[in-house]
Amino acid sequence: MKIRTDFGLLWQSVKQMGAEERDFSFEVSSREEMDIDIELERGVEIALDDLESTGGLLSYKGRQVLLYIPDHGSWVQSVIDGKNQGNRFHVGDCTKLDEMRQKGKFDRYTVTTDLSGVFRISGQSNVSSHIEHDAELKVCKLCLRMLNYRGYDTGPLAKKVIFEEFSISDFFATYSTQFRFLPKQLLDRRSGYSDEWAEISRRYRESRSWICECCGIDLAGNKNLLHCHHVSGNKRDNRDDNLMALCADCHSKQPDHEKMYVRKSEMTEIQRLRRRQGILDVLPGWDAVLEYIDSAYEGVARKIMKTSRSLPAVGEDIENSKGEIVLTPELSWPAQRFAIVDNEEQLDTLTQVGWRAMTMEQVLKS
Ligand SMILES: [Zn+2]
Ligand SMILES: [Zn+2]
Ligand SMILES: [Zn+2]
Repeated sequence: MKIRTDFGLLWQSVKQMGAEERDFSFEVSSREEMDIDIELERGVEIALDDLESTGGLLSYKGRQVLLYIPDHGSWVQSVIDGKNQGNRFHVGDCTKLDEMRQKGKFDRYTVTTDLSGVFRISGQSNVSSHIEHDAELKVCKLCLRMLNYRGYDTGPLAKKVIFEEFSISDFFATYSTQFRFLPKQLLDRRSGYSDEWAEISRRYRESRSWICECCGIDLAGNKNLLHCHHVSGNKRDNRDDNLMALCADCHSKQPDHEKMYVRKSEMTEIQRLRRRQGILDVLPGWDAVLEYIDSAYEGVARKIMKTSRSLPAVGEDIENSKGEIVLTPELSWPAQRFAIVDNEEQLDTLTQVGWRAMTMEQVLKS
């Protein structure tokens, strides 16, 4: 049983108190839910039907997962020896998965949230004994293309670079707003700052008037969304020169920040404030759009910019006839009353107020 707690009211009072960075915005998990996370880290065998697609990504029980086939048959030894690359692991609902579904193959599929890139594989050796061993596997290129990950299919980075530099934790962080739960390994890594750091961080951010030094958002009313970043990456160097006040979004987009996860609710709040403060009013071109949007939308935006010259509005509120906000899509074209949304449910919401919309997945697969 899952305990879902509405933190909304609690949050409001926390904000009024001017509280600092915290770590409790993620969903509270019951024992059973935690067991799922532990199991998923080790790998869970599933049927393809149990897999869901969220924005073209693979999802299992609300978590983002990787999928692979452990069985490598007679070539298992050559994969373990590194002479062969082995089965690709999937990160999206690519055409290969479609093919496997249609064939109704009886392969054994494993999903996992392990971020190491090392997978448990199996097969038969020459002397026909069963082997199980850990091996590094590579990501499926069809998945990268379908998701247009970092612009895989549309540039500007070379496909080879995106493929070779692929990092699972980076990938998961890119889409953190699309899932209710974070991989356990990432949550574990988030703690560990000293009390002293809390005070240094608070003092520094206060000295910058609670304004993000990258996008300029004023977070005096939402101090928890402003972080203190170490420019050199050295967390012990707390001199002012090495510190930067960054909003959660700008912070997560810094190099080597794959453990920085941004929640949907946090991203929505950041976009709303940026819009109210006029930061998103005049984005001069697609490059600026790409800079400000939720990273989960980069692949979609890069696909659209190939064909469309008309710039989207970022984080614009859509209201119903009573003037109530029904949705704040990441990308919308208010003049055309068209938006791109996370899922079918949001699509229905917009249809009801006379807008047209497409889901992220529909755009990616079209
Ligand atoms: Zn794939
Ligand atoms: Zn910022
Ligand atoms: Zn940082």
